[in-house]
This record gives sequence, C-alpha cells and structure tokens, in this order.
Amino acid sequence: MLDIHRHLPLTGESPIPEDWIVWFATSSSQEWDDCQTTPATSARRIGYGILPVNIARLNPSTDGWDMLFERLSHKLSQECWAYVGEFGIDERYQDVISLSRQLDFARQLLRIAQAAHRPAVIHHVGSAGDLRKLLQGMEHSIPVIIHGFLGSIESARELASSGAVVSLAPSVWKLPTKLAKRLGELDVPFLLESDFTGKEDRDYAGLMRDHHRRIAELLGCEKTLLEEKLHGFTKVLAHQPIAR
Ligand SMILES: [Zn+2]
Repeated sequence: MLDIHRHLPLTGESPIPEDWIVWFATSSSQEWDDCQTTPATSARRIGYGILPVNIARLNPSTDGWDMLFERLSHKLSQECWAYVGEFGIDERYQDVISLSRQLDFARQLLRIAQAAHRPAVIHHVGSAGDLRKLLQGMEHSIPVIIHGFLGSIESARELASSGAVVSLAPSVWKLPTKLAKRLGELDVPFLLESDFTGKEDRDYAGLMRDHHRRIAELLGCEKTLLEEKLHGFTKVLAHQPIAR
C-alpha cells in the first residue's frame, strides 16, 4: 500500500505495516525538528513544509523567510529521502496572509524543491486559477503532487497536462462530494493518501484499507485492479534522489 500523504507518527500509534510506503508531511517549521529522530528512507519519506496559516505565525526576527529557505535547502542537501511538503495556497487564510504573499512563499518552496531535485506536495484550497498561477512556468523535472484533491475531473486533467498528479484523500467520500459522483470519469493518473493526523475516530491502517475499498467502489473497479494501477504508479514515483 502507498500513502502519499499523512502527518507524523504519533506516540502510541499502532505500528504501520512494514511493506507500506508512507510519505510523512510536516506543516510548520516547529515540526521539522520533531522528525530528527526518525531517519527518512525510500519507504518512509519525510516532507518539510509550511502551511499558509503557519507562515503568518513566523517570527521575522528568529524565523525570517530567507532563514527558513536556507534551513530547508540545507535539510534537503543532508537527507536524501526528504522532499518538500506540505505547502501551498489556502484562501481561507487570506485575512491572515494575503494570497499574493502565500503565492510568493509557495513559489519559492517549489523552486527549492526543483533545485534539489525533490518531489513537492502541494496543499490547495481555493480557485483553480490560483493553483494555475503557482504551477505556471514550472519545468516539470520533479514530481508535483496536489494532495487532498477535491476539484473537478476537468481540473484533474488540466493538472495532469501541466505535469502534476492529484492525490485523493478520504475527504472524497467522507462527505458527499461532487468529485465522488464523477470519480468513474477520472482518466488521468492519481495517487491515494490518508491525510491521517491522529484526530480521526479510527486507526490508521483501518482507515487506509477502507479508503482503498471506497475509492475502488467509486471508480467502479475491483480493489485488486486499483492496487495494480497504483502499484504501476508507485514505480513512477520511486523518484531517486540525485547525489549531490
Ligand atoms: Zn495534510
């Protein structure tokens, strides 16, 4: 099983099945330090990211943007299985940090990911236009993943043609969504994620298994076929870090 996006392991959490590939994400610079004890491997990758709401909380004298960008680049140069994520655009927080500042920050993180030749996992809540602005002019030498995708089939296709891959979280089926109704029409590569934070009312492995079953139902395909499809794509994502 491949989980392309979840949050850091919690103390006391039941162990993650060993053969699963899991990409852990962080969403604030404080969390970056929490990962130091868990070395990243090809099957347990660790992402360094900051969500817009947490950019607004940075203290400019101790945590200025430039200092953070440097810290991030340094981490990527030291840890070959690290990636950049999650970061992005969230219009719910534009009162706290304007969309143009969010975009500036996200563009810079994308540049850092590109320079280090590492995948980028993007969080996006808002108009498809804002996401387009962020991805505009990107050279797609790295995997770019749009996590927790809830947009339309048309925007999934548009993202695919711009080189990005959408990732589906349980949010697709937890509440009735437009995307769930049309999921059978999804004809571009996609990934699955739990977006597990520990606040869920169930265990991690159970949630992932349910997620696969629900997505297979919505796609109208056998669970085994879904796993085969994702397995093929896992290979695409076995993006090897470049020695520096
Ligand atoms: Zn998340």
